[in-house]
Amino acid sequence: MKNVIFLAPPAAGKGTFSDYLVESYGYQHYSTGDILRAKAKEDKSLADFLKTGALVDDETMLKIIREVLTNVSSKESFILDGFPRTLHQAENLDIILHDLGLSYVVIYIDVEKNILEKRVVGRRVCPNCHQVYNVEMEGFGSKDNVTCDKCSTPLIHRDEDQIDTFQKRYQIYLESTKDLIRYYKEKGLLYPISNNDLDQENALKLLRGVVSEH
Ligand SMILES: [Zn+2]
Repeated sequence: MKNVIFLAPPAAGKGTFSDYLVESYGYQHYSTGDILRAKAKEDKSLADFLKTGALVDDETMLKIIREVLTNVSSKESFILDGFPRTLHQAENLDIILHDLGLSYVVIYIDVEKNILEKRVVGRRVCPNCHQVYNVEMEGFGSKDNVTCDKCSTPLIHRDEDQIDTFQKRYQIYLESTKDLIRYYKEKGLLYPISNNDLDQENALKLLRGVVSEH
């Protein structure tokens, strides 16, 4: 199976796609967040730095990514999640992958903005049992859309799911991926997969087609 880099707006279904590849094909899932947290356990200065909430600089991040990918077995395929975020990172990642003799495809999960908005802004969470509902999507709400079906606790609409936060994140996503999309398109590595439907069976079928070696 081909190694995968995902480019996806918030709530596009990257988690579902990743889980599918991990569960069906034994992919290794490398998320930069997880990698950094693991690294911070043995590196006190990195741990202190992460606590400030600042972003790790490109050189450090590339060094860590190189370490991780160097240890990848040639038999297993991997997903790189949360990286690259900039054109500079993408170009340097290509140097690393070339050195290691690794190739990849970029899966661009394409979802219409109004659908993403419904998925995010309609989300309601039970603060007690953590059940997640969606009041904007038929069949995904709670019975009254106000309290939890399981434990009757009033549902909450989290700050991160408010329309303003969504708009901001979406805008940042558009700006930050513009260069990456062009870069990978020019290299012929970009595979857009539409994931607008509630039923993701078709999108997963397309995904399977892209990652399979022919
Ligand atoms: Zn509940």
